[in-house]
Amino acid sequence: MALPKRRHSITRGRRRRTHWKINATQTVVCPQCKQSKLPHHICQFCGYYNGREVIKIETIDERKRRREKKGKENQ
Ligand SMILES: [Zn+2]
Repeated sequence: MALPKRRHSITRGRRRRTHWKINATQTVVCPQCKQSKLPHHICQFCGYYNGREVIKIETIDERKRRREKKGKENQ
């Protein structure tokens, strides 16, 4: 296996790594609720994709009520 003849200086390595940058995440505006969402993903705020509701997003109250109901059933 080929091996480097000389080690690169610290500066040379650091100078090369100046181009390593993180890009900001791309977002698009949801046409249903106008929140920003990831492109080609279901909106996490309204559950819509391509003009129809794909998943039901329940509010905190709805979740609380569902959990209370479930708890009573188990008793
Ligand atoms: Zn939305």
